[in-house]
Formats: sequence, C-alpha cells, structure tokens
Amino acid sequence: MENLTGNCLCGAVKYVATCKPIATRACWCRLCQTLAAGNATINLVFPRAEVTITGELSDFQTGAESGNKMHRKFCPKCGTHLFSEAEEKPTLIVVRAGTLTDSESIKVEGLIWTSEAPSWAQLDPEIPHLKFQTT
Ligand SMILES: [Zn+2]
Ligand SMILES: [Zn+2]
Repeated sequence: MENLTGNCLCGAVKYVATCKPIATRACWCRLCQTLAAGNATINLVFPRAEVTITGELSDFQTGAESGNKMHRKFCPKCGTHLFSEAEEKPTLIVVRAGTLTDSESIKVEGLIWTSEAPSWAQLDPEIPHLKFQTT
C-alpha cells in the first residue's frame, strides 16, 4: 500500500506513515468531543517508529479517561490537533484522521466511549462498539 500522509491546516506540520494503522477507531469520550468540535475523534494507531513527523509541535498534557498520561500534540501556528501519545505506551502514536491527505484511505473499525456520546450522535450500528481504549 502507499504511505499515508497528512498535514495540519497551515502545512507547517507534515507526516508520513510507512505501514497500515494497527487500529482505526472513533472515540466519543468527552475530551475528544472537545478536540473534535463536537463529534468523535477518528484515530489511527501506528507503531511510533513508522511515523515520520516534520515541523514544530506544541504539547498539551492531560489525563485520559483510561487513566493514562497523554501528550496531545498540535501545530503552534494554526492550532490543528494531529497526534496523541500515552506515556504508558511509548511505542505507539495516535494520528487524528482529519489531518490525512486522503481520508478515503481508511476505514473505522470500532467506536469507543459511546456511553459519553450525546443523544444526537450518529452511531453507526454496523460498526462494533468496543469498550474502553486509550486514544
Ligand atoms: Zn499548522
Ligand atoms: Zn477520546
């Protein structure tokens, strides 16, 4: 397959992933709703070593609902949120799918934290609702 590429809104941050994602999930936790302007975040999990990032990132540290310590990384120029990493899982990186060059190149395999989704959320019944994962 071709490498997956992406960038932030202003183009100062770019990335290339050289393998398929390990997992692709939509997260409806309240924190992700804040990041994703009211919807779920769509998250691609990759081995950290397979993703090359260029450009400067800012790092906002928060807890996750799972209890992990998360580093949420965004472009300091345009504010686009691109990545998150858990201190407890240093070999993995989560890429936010909204930053992909080609968003047709992925398929969402699971929904997580649907218990926190608002009543108006569009939850696809064809996609498995998984329990509790870190994004
Ligand atoms: Zn930017
Ligand atoms: Zn979330």
